[in-house]
Amino acid sequence: LDDIEREVRASAGLPKSAPQSAGAAAAVAVTSAKSTTSSFSGGGGLRPVSHFCPSCGRLMLGAPVAPQLAPCGHSVCAGCAPRPEEAQPPLRCPHCGLRVSGVRPDAALRAAIDAFSGAGAASSTETTAPSDAAADAAAGSAAARRWLQQLDVISGRMRQLDSSMESLQAEVAQLTGQLEAEAARDRQLAASEAAARKEISRLQAELSSLAEQRSVSRDNQAFIQSEIDAKKEAIQGAFASQQLVSQELAKLQRLCAA
Ligand SMILES: [Zn+2]
Ligand SMILES: [Zn+2]
Repeated sequence: LDDIEREVRASAGLPKSAPQSAGAAAAVAVTSAKSTTSSFSGGGGLRPVSHFCPSCGRLMLGAPVAPQLAPCGHSVCAGCAPRPEEAQPPLRCPHCGLRVSGVRPDAALRAAIDAFSGAGAASSTETTAPSDAAADAAAGSAAARRWLQQLDVISGRMRQLDSSMESLQAEVAQLTGQLEAEAARDRQLAASEAAARKEISRLQAELSSLAEQRSVSRDNQAFIQSEIDAKKEAIQGAFASQQLVSQELAKLQRLCAA
């Protein structure tokens, strides 16, 4: 803020050190604008005393931006005030959004703003030499007006910075969301990988179990084959014995017949 103040002082042609009374008065105006803004958001329905439009932030000095009072109690600049001939009904207060029948010039606030800018000019002349007082007063008044215009510009820049801060914060929030989504995806992939590894080890166990079973089966086959071979051999032996016995029988039958 010191830089801004120096910038304002430089452009208003004021000394860089020792605040002039015009500067002090304007600083008071800024402070009162801030405190009034907080009472707006508090919703206390207080009569706004800010010299700045609560909708666009412009200093409501001069006819094009003269303060207009809405029935909700908010004074906005003429540029922001709803115009019945342009807007679609219902008309709304640009600050609080309440439906309003219309606006009327806020003569009291306009007078206060005019008086303030006049007072700023008058008090700034107090520090100048008493000689040629009228010319000094005119110069002081012009300086005070430039000062107030600069304040207007600065408050506009502040609003721009606020909105770029907001958009940056929104971007950060969006990126944080993306980061969380990526982290969630990573966790999901890790879970899938663990499940796949588990499945692989299960299949490997099944494979080795099958190999073992097959080896047992081969042993059984070999054993059964040897059993078959032994039985065949026994059958052949029995067949040979049978032939031998039948030959003996035939021999005995021939002997009996003789
Ligand atoms: Zn406005
Ligand atoms: Zn309002």
